Amino acid sequence: MSKSFMHSLIPLPKTYRKGEGKFLWKSSLSISVEQGGESDSDPSHLLSGWLTRRRSDLTCEIVSGVSDIQFACSSELKDEAYRLDITPDQIKITGGPSGWVRGAAALTMLLESDGWPACQVEDEPQFAWRGMHLDVSRHFYPIRFVKRLIDLIALHRMNTFHWHLTDDQGWRIAIDAFPQLAQISAWRDRDGESYGGFYTAEDVKEILAYAEERKIQVVPEIEMPGHALAALSAFPDLSCTGGHFRVSNTCGIFDDVYCAGKESTFAFLEKVLSEVCSLFPGPYIHVGGDECPKTRWKSCPDCQNRMREQGLKNENELQSWFVSRMGRFLQSHGKCMIGWDEILEGGLPPTAVVMSWQGIKGGIEAARLGHDVIMSPTSHCYFDYRQSTEPEEPGNLGIIPLETVYGYDPVPEELDAEAASRVLGVQANIWTERMPTWKLLEYMTLPRLCALAEVAWVPSEDKCWDGFQSRLEHHLHFLKEMGYTYRHPLRAKREFPL
Ligand SMILES: [Zn+2]
Repeated sequence: MSKSFMHSLIPLPKTYRKGEGKFLWKSSLSISVEQGGESDSDPSHLLSGWLTRRRSDLTCEIVSGVSDIQFACSSELKDEAYRLDITPDQIKITGGPSGWVRGAAALTMLLESDGWPACQVEDEPQFAWRGMHLDVSRHFYPIRFVKRLIDLIALHRMNTFHWHLTDDQGWRIAIDAFPQLAQISAWRDRDGESYGGFYTAEDVKEILAYAEERKIQVVPEIEMPGHALAALSAFPDLSCTGGHFRVSNTCGIFDDVYCAGKESTFAFLEKVLSEVCSLFPGPYIHVGGDECPKTRWKSCPDCQNRMREQGLKNENELQSWFVSRMGRFLQSHGKCMIGWDEILEGGLPPTAVVMSWQGIKGGIEAARLGHDVIMSPTSHCYFDYRQSTEPEEPGNLGIIPLETVYGYDPVPEELDAEAASRVLGVQANIWTERMPTWKLLEYMTLPRLCALAEVAWVPSEDKCWDGFQSRLEHHLHFLKEMGYTYRHPLRAKREFPL
């Protein structure tokens, strides 16, 4: 350990008090969980899995009674808050079920080659929403990779996984009512070969269980009314023109979207969302709402008829009507709708949550209107952008260096206290147009995810770029031991191929 700092925790904990001595390394550790309260939560297997992933020469034994590592109940600590006490004799993690998991993540990170430094950590997050998004449409990744990302989220004490399941380039979730979505919409022609894939209901349940063990909420996204080409390839009648369509093999924004005039569109989407609602237990469903050209709607008799019938002045209002109708449907299923900030155009259903990606303007406007807001601006939170100006650096056109991510403050200074309280938190997005391999995806994500985790967990005034950098130096060893690929922020030459 360098002398310049006391620990290498990322994100920075609220308080860290150095103790005397060390809990010395042993190759076999016992873990116990105090039973109590209403919860039957048991984080011992999770911790054991993380620790043995880091050190393959370690074995953990789950015991009852006296143990090396003890999970202790507390009903006083807030959700996700935890206390970690490390003495030369014992390690104790105190909290509720989600606090235990956050504490287990911190303990996994604090391990040094010869054991754990004695210390007391008292910790809780600044923001309730600390999210990572993953686009599985532009490239499809099997669930073992999705789990790697969920572990990264949990190890950095973040709590939300936003799963972008549908787009023009592929529909990735099997829906019982419409088998064609898995048969047709999940596949595209790439140089004469069929490319794609989809998650079955069993896959989804496996991911949900994995996330639940890590106290990560999963937010599914089903895009509408735009980015619908994959769905329209199987169901061309749901478009304005009737097709013919193919699942796209190129990036971009396409004119053909769901027809807002036809009732069959809503019958389809409501059936899809019903299945999604019953599969995903969380309170939020994301409906996209971004980048929907109005070209087809302008010349579609059904869409124009709908506008007359509903007294809508223009196609933006038609989009708003579309999104509001789906929002009411979700509400009737006990779910809360989230959309990208375009859902603000033409009016917004009152309970909708806005995810602000086109800068921070949408977030500011939505918060002032009294909507909950998640900040995810392209300027700081788009991990498909390049990480440096070096010519060989992979990524999209923009450049978002690590320091830019770190410097982000999710609460826009323009907001008064009441509007600021509407900012639930922050999220980074992994759009995968240019990430054909998972290794490259990890390279694009790390270590920017580490910086984002600190943005989300730590009050803005407690952040320190220099301190983060020196902790990161050690944190990179942690990432390496956990088997992740990352961009080394100091090394000039990249490790290719990715
Ligand atoms: Zn239409």
